[in-house]
Amino acid sequence: MKPAPFAYRRPETLEAALEALAGESGAKVLAGGQSLVPLLSMRLAAPTVLVDVNRLPGLDEVSVTDDEVRVGALVRHADLLVDERARAVQPLLAMALAHVAHATIRNRGTTVGSIVHADAAAEMPTVLALLGGSVEVASLRGRRTIAAGDLFAGPLESTLAADELALAAAFPVLRPGEGVGFAEIARRHGDYALCGVAGVVRLEEGRAAEARLGYLSVNDVPTVVDVTGLDAEAAAERALERLEPADDVHATAAYRAQLVRVLTKRVLAAATDHARGRADG
Ligand code: FAD
Repeated sequence: MKPAPFAYRRPETLEAALEALAGESGAKVLAGGQSLVPLLSMRLAAPTVLVDVNRLPGLDEVSVTDDEVRVGALVRHADLLVDERARAVQPLLAMALAHVAHATIRNRGTTVGSIVHADAAAEMPTVLALLGGSVEVASLRGRRTIAAGDLFAGPLESTLAADELALAAAFPVLRPGEGVGFAEIARRHGDYALCGVAGVVRLEEGRAAEARLGYLSVNDVPTVVDVTGLDAEAAAERALERLEPADDVHATAAYRAQLVRVLTKRVLAAATDHARGRADG
């Protein structure tokens, strides 16, 4: 199938991009195209105008401060994956990105595009939600910052307005005492996960003072569960109270629930080991 007809704009400045987005209802941002183009081809999306943002200056940078890793809207998954400064201060980024699709898709797809696309089966929305990050957006009306907790509205639905362009995503750095872990099960490497878990554990005097887990591919939106003070089994049961594993063509609900149990245990152990290793190292 071919996409429905659309107009194509490729602005060279942010101002022109925002004008193009505001100018017509039915305009859509085109970043890496790795989600949008398949949707166009299947006619599951039919924007009247595509606003290609790939020529906008200054959006392809990763910057690291004491507090956060700021990822510009045109940073490709592949570039963030190999960014040593980002990996050093927030290793969960690389841990999760290694599971995002295949190398060819990572070369083109953007991390910010993935977050705005808000697919609950994608890795980076859950990582942003777990870490309590945010997205900076701009429109002709001004700029605002959307906290991850306010970003994911439903399946494939974020709270950006139609005329807003995401400029960057900000991921908090690892704090003292924290360790992180990530695991997922997919039918083939590079496929979307049947279930995935990202975790952060903070140790104080060798004991877990805080533990949070983020689940992907189980609910309609990335889901973060506080499991502080719980052992792995209780943590999985707490998570399952918040999750609604469902049957689909890839897995039964019961199998997904079992993956929640197995991966919860694995990620809690990995994040705790990581925190211990940092404390010892
Ligand atoms: P696009 O496709 O260009 O855009 C996606 C949506 O976000 C569109 O609605 C667009 O308007 C909007 N958008 C994008 N950027 C902005 C912005 N800056 N401001 C406002 N709106 C914006 N992803 C995973 O996470 N895990 C996987 O396992 C995985 N597997 C894949 C397998 C295949 C075969 C394919 C084709 C894709 C897969 N992906 C996977 C998706 C991939 O990660 C995409 O790169 C990502 O979802 C979207 O990023 P993009 O830059 O390509 O965005």
